[in-house]
Amino acid sequence: MITLSFSFAISFFLSLWISIVFVMWILYNDHDSYVLKELLKVVQCPYCTHVFWGMADKELSSCPHCKSYVNLEEPKR
Ligand SMILES: [Zn+2]
Repeated sequence: MITLSFSFAISFFLSLWISIVFVMWILYNDHDSYVLKELLKVVQCPYCTHVFWGMADKELSSCPHCKSYVNLEEPKR
């Protein structure tokens, strides 16, 4: 059985959160990030103006605030 001390648990979860924040900061500051462009897309709901992250590979996404469907495709001109 693995014994887990309180100080080890605190240091483990703190280092886990710091590393997650660090990776998100790197991805946020890398404006040409392949990961963010291919996976996530910032979407503003046209009905309630709520801003949320939508999956870039889907055509439709559901607004988490008003539950309406939002078209993620760019309008064709
Ligand atoms: Zn909405």
